[in-house]
Amino acid sequence: MESRKEEIEYAGIGASPGIAHGPVSILREKEITVPKYQVKPALHKTEVARFENALLATRKQIQKIRDQVEESLGEEEARIFDAHLMVLEDQALIDEVVREMDASEENVEASMWRIGNRYIEAFGQIDDEYLRERASDIRDVIRRLISNLTGQSLEDHGDRSDNKHVVVAQEVAPSDSASIDKNQVLALVTDLGGKTGHTVIVARSMNIPAVVGLGDISQNVVPGDVLLVDGYEGKVVVNPSENTLFRYGKLKDKRASIEERLIAFSKNISETKDGHPIQLQANIESANEAKRALEIGADGVGLFRTEYLFMNTRSLPSEEEQFDAYSGVAEVMDGRSVVIRTLDLGGDKMSASPELGMQHEANPFLGYRAIRYCLDNIDIFTTQLRAILRASARGNVKIMYPMISGVEEMKQANECLEIAKEQLRSEGIAFNESIETGSMIEIPSAAIACDTLVSECSFFSIGSNDLIQYLMAVDRLNDRVAHLYEPTHPAMIRMLDMIVKAANKGGVELSICGEMAGDPILVPLLVGLGIESLSMSPGLLPHAKFVAHSMDLSEAREIAEMALSETDAMKILENLTAFYESRMASIS
Ligand code: PEP
Ligand code: MG
Repeated sequence: MESRKEEIEYAGIGASPGIAHGPVSILREKEITVPKYQVKPALHKTEVARFENALLATRKQIQKIRDQVEESLGEEEARIFDAHLMVLEDQALIDEVVREMDASEENVEASMWRIGNRYIEAFGQIDDEYLRERASDIRDVIRRLISNLTGQSLEDHGDRSDNKHVVVAQEVAPSDSASIDKNQVLALVTDLGGKTGHTVIVARSMNIPAVVGLGDISQNVVPGDVLLVDGYEGKVVVNPSENTLFRYGKLKDKRASIEERLIAFSKNISETKDGHPIQLQANIESANEAKRALEIGADGVGLFRTEYLFMNTRSLPSEEEQFDAYSGVAEVMDGRSVVIRTLDLGGDKMSASPELGMQHEANPFLGYRAIRYCLDNIDIFTTQLRAILRASARGNVKIMYPMISGVEEMKQANECLEIAKEQLRSEGIAFNESIETGSMIEIPSAAIACDTLVSECSFFSIGSNDLIQYLMAVDRLNDRVAHLYEPTHPAMIRMLDMIVKAANKGGVELSICGEMAGDPILVPLLVGLGIESLSMSPGLLPHAKFVAHSMDLSEAREIAEMALSETDAMKILENLTAFYESRMASIS
């Protein structure tokens, strides 16, 4: 087919940074043929053995993919494959397939397909995004099992050439990632997916640019088309003109050189141009990530999200497993502060573990979440507190409670902490007796009345992700109202100012660990308002450090005054952007 010459630009979500350019390779999911034939009762055992061998082979393949992802990306990203492994170990599902083979006297492929589809249909109808996703895990696993039983390949790369190419697909299932040749793929582009989807994880692990959420691009490109992929801005240009290529070529070189210089700059200490010290800390989920954060100049860990230990797992992590995870990070950080946040399950972070007993709710962000869940499940909470306390003997560990709405919850959480301390004392187990406790400030009631919390803790950390959503009634995950999710809204700026004043008056330390902290445009505003400890994804630290070094404290304060007196969120953002660009001029 002849390639279109017309240049067409698509806008999606930039999921993995970088710019790439090359011929398209369309990855389509192949229709899989499911053989169906009678199996005499005498051969039933042989058929069961075929099934068991296929389960074993599939397990090995998925374990291999998991290991690859763990090595390149870390434990928590690899855990996505635990859901697949769980399907392969699901005794109820396995028994049902064996019973179906027996009852229908049919081969394993046909029986498994029937049972699998029954499960997929049931999960697919559940009004819960997390559980609906489990349907695609089951589908992925069943297809792979059939491919192993019949030798059929799962993807159709009809047009794949030996040259390097840009893979375009509707979606890339996690286990399909194994078939993507890292040496041949320049970039990944998909119709579906968000910033935290499977494609993103695969692309990041391969260090290649990716753009997701492009609608129907896989239906509109044809073999012979050439794609330009901008993973920074989330743009894809089909058949780019010479002019566009020239522009992007220059941009690519420029981005790479800026990134290199920012990384080199991250060796500097964290302070403003006039030497006012600030703290730039990392949000992490594992010891591996903590190591990376340290290499990139983190002053500490401002947020260790612990939910990931509890997700995609059938059984609860034991005290010992949790202790290993927490003390691992504390040891890596070698005396630097490590703030471990207690379990924040609920909202968008659901767990299918039956032991956690999570249930579907109409408004999960307003429901049984975080500290509310923990105070109602004291055993789970106490186990976690014991593990954190034990880790406090191995480093500079602090405890932070999420979703605190008022002082009563703080008191109850601290009472649980006292009980855990008492247990450890009586068992003769070491911990830091004067471990500091803190409260996330992410619910407007806690922000407005944070003066009432100061007696119960020694630090606050502003969770701007949730604080913005609850303050402005904007679901943080809903694209359709995303334009209303404005960090520079005057209400949010006034709220930040209130929290700073209450924290200073009450003598508690203050930091911020929501996404606002890692946005380099907002760094001057936050520091100017008096928030001098910012915690962010490790990759964002060099940029924030550079911006901090480019301004005097007095300039940051002027910026904050401007923001406090302005009434228009867009105008505030424009002013902040202009200031930021003037500071970046020296490096771009
Ligand atoms: C926040 O709400 O800003 C935050 C850091 O917590 P999470 O994103 O985990 O809800
Ligand atoms: Mg939060």
